[in-house]
Amino acid sequence: MKGGNVIKFHILTLFIVLSLILGTQVIALFVQYRVNRPYRGIGYWLLGSSLMALGFIFMPMVTVKSLEMFARIANPLLILGHIFLYIGIKQFFNKKVTKWIPISIFVVLNLSYYYYMYINNDISARTFVVTATIAIISFMISYQLFCKKNRLISSSANFTAAVFFVYGCFYTVRTFRVSMLPTIHSYTDQEEILIIGAILSIIISNLWTFGLIIMVNQRLNSDNQLEKEKLQLIFNTNPDAQLITRLNDGFIVEVNDGFSVLSGYSRAEVIGDYIRTISFWHNPADRQLFITELNDKVTCENREFIFQRKDNSQFSGMISARIIMIHSVPHIISAIRDITERKQFEEALIESEEKYRSILNASPDDITITDLEGNILMISSAAKKMFGYKSDFNNFIGMQLLDFIIPEDVERAKSNLQQMYQGGNLKANEYHGVRQDQSIFDIEVNSGFVYSANGLPDKMVFIIRDITERKLAERKIQKLVQQLEIEKNIAQLNSITDSMTGLANRRYFDETLKTEFFRLRRSGSTLSLIMLDIDYFKKFNDSYGHLAGDQCLRMIATTLKTIISRAPDIVARYGGEEFIIILPETDEDGAKALGERIRKAVEELAIPHCASDIAKCVTASLGIVTVYPTELISPEQVLKQVDEALYCAKKRGRNRCLYSSNEKL
Ligand code: GH3
Ligand code: MG
Ligand code: MG
Repeated sequence: MKGGNVIKFHILTLFIVLSLILGTQVIALFVQYRVNRPYRGIGYWLLGSSLMALGFIFMPMVTVKSLEMFARIANPLLILGHIFLYIGIKQFFNKKVTKWIPISIFVVLNLSYYYYMYINNDISARTFVVTATIAIISFMISYQLFCKKNRLISSSANFTAAVFFVYGCFYTVRTFRVSMLPTIHSYTDQEEILIIGAILSIIISNLWTFGLIIMVNQRLNSDNQLEKEKLQLIFNTNPDAQLITRLNDGFIVEVNDGFSVLSGYSRAEVIGDYIRTISFWHNPADRQLFITELNDKVTCENREFIFQRKDNSQFSGMISARIIMIHSVPHIISAIRDITERKQFEEALIESEEKYRSILNASPDDITITDLEGNILMISSAAKKMFGYKSDFNNFIGMQLLDFIIPEDVERAKSNLQQMYQGGNLKANEYHGVRQDQSIFDIEVNSGFVYSANGLPDKMVFIIRDITERKLAERKIQKLVQQLEIEKNIAQLNSITDSMTGLANRRYFDETLKTEFFRLRRSGSTLSLIMLDIDYFKKFNDSYGHLAGDQCLRMIATTLKTIISRAPDIVARYGGEEFIIILPETDEDGAKALGERIRKAVEELAIPHCASDIAKCVTASLGIVTVYPTELISPEQVLKQVDEALYCAKKRGRNRCLYSSNEKL
């Protein structure tokens, strides 16, 4: 290296140049990082290069005593920079970074590096550790770039891999050289290799920075390409017709397969032609209208126009479009959908709805059609009239059918509807309808579903009938039935009651006596009878008149009713002025006591009887009998016996009770 014509490299100058160059690379990577932030890993490259630049700046400080501290961390910084490059590349390839590998490399390096600095000061050993580590990391980077790369960026990755491989080789050679040379005592002992290393680092770091940047660009390109292909695919596979035309003259730039299907033109036929020459717009003025709208709003959504196919047939199309810039020239990208069928369907629907409406209006029935929520959609004129609305009243639409019945019926109506939803066969239901004037009337509602083409319930139909008349007739009939029932009961009562006294009549007495007789015969109990006859009643009539006689009879009947209050006992008018009392399960003493009480009560009524031979007031004679029906054959026998007892009472002077028993017969 000596001699005038040989370029002498100054090691410090080289390190400064190297750190300046690394600094410019940092700037380049920083720009790349800002532009392509979505790509992972670039940040680590930026960090790695920055640390390396810092390492190379610190390295020459070994010669300045006050800055020596920085020189001591220069190599670890350099290696950390390499490690970050490695991490960045793994991330750039979307590979998982196994953290313990870089961490353990860095830890081992630091431990051995500082061991040979502070414990066993050995420059050769330190250099060995550093160069070997750089070689290992370079090969690791090279391996990642070469083997784990993405196929789409293979050329730039291969180039970068080669750069790191060469770098790794140089450091391997340097490692071996250090280990073979005698121990060095100062960094300047290996000035030659340091110079070569610095020059190589300048070249290599430039190359890998280029490599990394090219990798990013290649990836960007391939991503763009993918995106473009994806868009192309979307454009082509869209079932709607799509075309791109130049805004100012309608020059056709691109059409998709959907356009060919819709228009009948092949791609080759239309691309490069003008929209007006293929008469795609049936009415050219429509296109002018469309362009004006587009110019105003940049986009145009779902506008309907008539278009024309290659075979001159026309179709209704719905067009949506927006202005896009292609090479700074405004173009229109539009999508057109054939809506002929939909239009026809809509027209058919409108027609059918019209038909519905005219049927509804002509129908004498009160028909209402609602949606599934019960909102009224259509209502017949008859129904309007029924609810008291004029035929031109149209505010029904949107109202709920449930608004037309009284609130008390709403819950029942809802549960009936629920039943219908669940497939129940709903019979006619009766509710109370409310007219516009709030008057209430009876309605009968039949309901069912209207099904759509897919077989699902779509609407509900209600046929409502005013059943006021029927209800009125029903109520009349009900009243009549009730009346008849009452009359029947009265007649029944009459048939067993004596109309003048209100006591049971003879017929009822005969029946009851028979029933009680046989019942008591079965149970073995006693039966008592009391027969009462008013004394000298003929004379009473003669003296006071028949009306007074009747009144006397009623007073005695009331007295008897008051005294005979036990449930099974029965008082009946036996005939004329004779009364009879049935006393089931009553013994002789009971009957006698009761007989005497009655006799006294009649006397105590103190009805004047001036014609009586025995007293001044009305008196009565009573025959009493107590029998065991088990010992008799028929009720007539008891009757006969009591009659005889009464006869005896009369005979013995009247106004007395006479008891008779079986034994006396
Ligand atoms: P006694 O029984 O004390 O022997 O005399 P008597 O006058 O009561 O006897 P009798 O049986 O012959 O007369 C019964 C009379 O009762 C005949 C009739 O004028 C009267 N009588 C019967 N039924 C009625 C009636 O419903 N109303 C009135 N006012 N009198 C009646
Ligand atoms: Mg009599
Ligand atoms: Mg009498």
